Amino acid sequence: MDCLFCKIVDGSIPVSIVKQTEKVTAFNDISPQAPTHVLIIPNQHFENMGRVAEADPELAGEILKVTSAIAKDLGLESWRINANTGASAGQSVFHAHIHLMGGRTFAWPPG
Ligand code: AMP
Ligand code: ZN
Repeated sequence: MDCLFCKIVDGSIPVSIVKQTEKVTAFNDISPQAPTHVLIIPNQHFENMGRVAEADPELAGEILKVTSAIAKDLGLESWRINANTGASAGQSVFHAHIHLMGGRTFAWPPG
């Protein structure tokens, strides 16, 4: 399978890694939409975060735990997480990921 994020996990595409565990990888988004913009992904391939939650709720929890730890490590007081699910919701890479963004204000509703 030709998956960009699987190649990031196996190291064949270099990225700026923020944190890596046995099950989860976090790296800086190549096109940041905020001063902090980190992607947190499962090392195993799933199509989106909904599929992770269905197949392995413990892994979904681990992804959220790593996300929260990174926000804390970076000293963020306010931050937003986003899991675009499906093309019309803005998903462009079909390997599950959470966007962690902080360091600016965010509008709500997001539009
Ligand atoms: P989404 O549109 O929710 O699927 O998010 C995919 C994200 O992956 C976008 O924010 C892209 O900027 C980011 N992205 C794509 N290629 C890379 C890459 N090589 N390294 C880091 N981030 C990437
Ligand atoms: Zn993948």
